[in-house]
Amino acid sequence: MSAAPAARVPGPTPRAGGDPLIRLFHVSKSYAAGQFALRDVSVEIKKGELVFLTGPSGAGKTTLLRMIYLAERPTRGTVSLFDQDVAQLPRDALANLRRKIGIVFQDFRLVDHLSAFDNVALPLRVAGVDEVRVKAHVTELLEWVGLADHLEAKPATLSGGQKQRMAIARAVIAGPSLLLADEPTGNVDDAMADRLMRLFEEMNRLGTTLVLATHNEALVARRGHPRLHLDNGRIVVESPLARAVAAS
Ligand code: ADP
Repeated sequence: MSAAPAARVPGPTPRAGGDPLIRLFHVSKSYAAGQFALRDVSVEIKKGELVFLTGPSGAGKTTLLRMIYLAERPTRGTVSLFDQDVAQLPRDALANLRRKIGIVFQDFRLVDHLSAFDNVALPLRVAGVDEVRVKAHVTELLEWVGLADHLEAKPATLSGGQKQRMAIARAVIAGPSLLLADEPTGNVDDAMADRLMRLFEEMNRLGTTLVLATHNEALVARRGHPRLHLDNGRIVVESPLARAVAAS
């Protein structure tokens, strides 16, 4: 993870050690004339990093994630993923990129008429995984996130925290190369937040790159991963990995 100096052209220079997986170069996003949700953001996140994205409500965290999972185009600037400028890619190549990304949405986006089991099984079934493996894998993961007693429950019958854990399980079940999560621990207590963080850290250990947006400062302090801090659409703090690299 590193912020690029604003004047550098034509793109952020990769640091030694690790290929860049996400690059934003002078990215601004405006939803309404004269109002910017992101302002001239240049940042690089490397393959294998686990990065917290912090900042107060309205700082631009969700907008930044939306740029990365290609839900929106920047008003200005360029976004590269897996070393490809996404603006240059045809539709089928974009679809291929999206398949490598797991997303935990702030509003969960679960399928209402499916059970917890079937919601979480969906990405595996779409990928053609056989039912024996689907059953084993989904059951194990739902146990890990504390939903073993709710395999057949529909989302509407579950609490916010339970739905959040279901959404996390669905996002991670197929082993994405990149996981983007918007306030993934916003609805659970500290003990469950730490348990979910251990799941994210284990995925990271196995090679997944993660960007976790949160305004939970205590959690960020406890886990000690590098962070990008946004304020009013600008990255204002990067720590501690980028500072350590910059100093070396
Ligand atoms: P955060 O995730 O840090 O709370 P957001 O990215 O959701 O911040 O929002 C950043 C700014 O962009 C806010 O001022 C918000 O009101 C505005 N914004 C976000 N999405 C939209 C949208 N779809 N239309 C108009 N304004 C938006």
